[in-house]
Amino acid sequence: MFSEELEKISWDETTERIAAMTDQDVRRALSRRHCDVDDFMALLSPAAEPYLETMARLARRYTEERFGRTMSMFIPLYLTNSCANSCVYCGFHRQNPMQRTILTPEQMEAEFVAIKQLAPFENILLVTGENPAKAGVPYLARAIEQAKRHFSNIKIEVMPLSTEAYAELMQHGLNGVICFQETYHRDHYQRYHPAGMKSNFEWRCDGFDRMGQAGVHSIGLGVLIGLEKEWRTDVTMMAHHLRYLQKHYWRTRYSVNFPRMRPAQNEGFPPSCIMTDRELAQATFAMRIFDHDVDISYSTREPAYIRDHMCTLGVTTLSAGSKVNPGGYHTYPQALEQFSVSDERTPAEVEQRLRLLGREPVWKDWDACFDLRRAL
Ligand code: SF4
Repeated sequence: MFSEELEKISWDETTERIAAMTDQDVRRALSRRHCDVDDFMALLSPAAEPYLETMARLARRYTEERFGRTMSMFIPLYLTNSCANSCVYCGFHRQNPMQRTILTPEQMEAEFVAIKQLAPFENILLVTGENPAKAGVPYLARAIEQAKRHFSNIKIEVMPLSTEAYAELMQHGLNGVICFQETYHRDHYQRYHPAGMKSNFEWRCDGFDRMGQAGVHSIGLGVLIGLEKEWRTDVTMMAHHLRYLQKHYWRTRYSVNFPRMRPAQNEGFPPSCIMTDRELAQATFAMRIFDHDVDISYSTREPAYIRDHMCTLGVTTLSAGSKVNPGGYHTYPQALEQFSVSDERTPAEVEQRLRLLGREPVWKDWDACFDLRRAL
């Protein structure tokens, strides 16, 4: 399990090594076709900042070699904002006396129809807070069954589950799981997640192994940028995690995300760091040079100008038209959002811009019949 591997990697030593990277280390990393985590640290380090243009060119080249000029499009649907956790940075935490909603099957149907009217989305991400009693595996199974009548690729971003539960949801049509570790700093993790199931670092961290063991086709990782002052160290830990998963669950496809903290309503959590746009670009280039195949996803947390800029330089998946409150497309358009969306353009506007930039938006890039494991 990765939590055991992580024990062997010192946070402080990693931070020191990133800070000590030199010009020579960066040039060595740039010259290698296949980078290891040491090279990744060099590319992520302050020493690589003068090489951003070179990194951008390489990131574009590797992305076009593997993905062509396509951009996979997806949309999230929040099914519930009820949550038993106490994440100090999130407006949905359990102490917040806000109105809680769990979409009924009828409401879900109305949301699916409303999404289809926005654009021909085929990739949907079903999102919940953590409420295993009312929005647990049976609820998710029913939601997936219902969603597959409208969409060909169904992913979830929900509480970490057991291997058996992931396997059961796959029987219903689940294709992918996204889960953000938030931070790989164990002690600080406890501070940000003081109560509820999410306070168990190992359960969350090892959830990715359980996804792999269940044969989930696509696994998404991410750290919440803004939690740790040393964001470079956190992103390096994610790179270790990615390599570990690829080695153990090699038939799975992976995606990464660098979500930068956005204001959440009713919260006053001060970010520990502000990642600049240049630093976000550097992390994206470094990840693409490190891993030519991994999907890199930017959500509507990011402003339009940076999404437009980065869509030719490493990013391969974009959301568009997102609502981050349950029922936001039809049922409860005014409800409290988990965080403020930054890119508020419609999917049609995003599509138009992508085409102008020479990218081909792809609404459908997966069908269950591609999965040989299911077909056999
Ligand atoms: S981040 Fe997720 S788990 Fe934490 S309080 Fe918000 S909805 Fe709940």
